[in-house]
Amino acid sequence: MSLTPVLFPELINAVTETIAAHAEAVTELDQAIGDGDHVFNLQRGLQALQAGNADIAVLDWPAAWQKIGMILMSAVGGASGSLYATLFISLNKNSHDKTIDLQNFASIFGLAVDAVKQRGKADVGEKTMLDVLVPVAEALKQDAAAGKPLPEVLDHVCAVAEAGVESTRNMLATKGRASFLGERSIGHIDAGAKTAQLMIEAVAGVLKKAA
Ligand code: ADP
Ligand code: MG
Repeated sequence: MSLTPVLFPELINAVTETIAAHAEAVTELDQAIGDGDHVFNLQRGLQALQAGNADIAVLDWPAAWQKIGMILMSAVGGASGSLYATLFISLNKNSHDKTIDLQNFASIFGLAVDAVKQRGKADVGEKTMLDVLVPVAEALKQDAAAGKPLPEVLDHVCAVAEAGVESTRNMLATKGRASFLGERSIGHIDAGAKTAQLMIEAVAGVLKKAA
């Protein structure tokens, strides 16, 4: 896989579409245990990325990750904005190559998810986006090590992301606003886990077509 950021406009469109299509459902989730602004926060970030689309598409990967992170950092409020900004800035920090393949991407994505853990002082099992990002990072590493073909990896990652979302339902939130609800957070899916899964699925869909 030698994908370049030329794909970026298509990726952003796909992510924007899926967030719009699920906006109501995700907002309902976020109203149940958060403050209901998660979709709005993501959409602000996505709009800012849309505006930077053409510039990002001509960069190499590390420069693109950095630019995406900086745009998110300044455009998005909320916990999710700084956590996603951290993810992308860390992808740049750990990149040793200007191109990506499954092996090096799996490695830098794992480090970027570790950076998100540190930034949010959170880990799997706390009812956050990490319940999707951590198992996805693990699946990528395993599949890259096993040399699986990309379409198979993408299907695997999507299945793992869905399971991650579902896993948040019966968790007690211990981080973020949902933690203020204590036991009452149990029984609801985490909005940030759901949007992480939707975005991963959208990206996988574009990559499958491109592969
Ligand atoms: P805010 O919580 O500041 O209103 P958002 O509504 O945009 O921000 O995002 C909320 C989502 O962010 C949650 O659903 C959860 O998935 C994620 N989140 C919140 N705090 C953390 C944290 N410390 N670590 C990881 N993810 C977190
Ligand atoms: Mg919120």
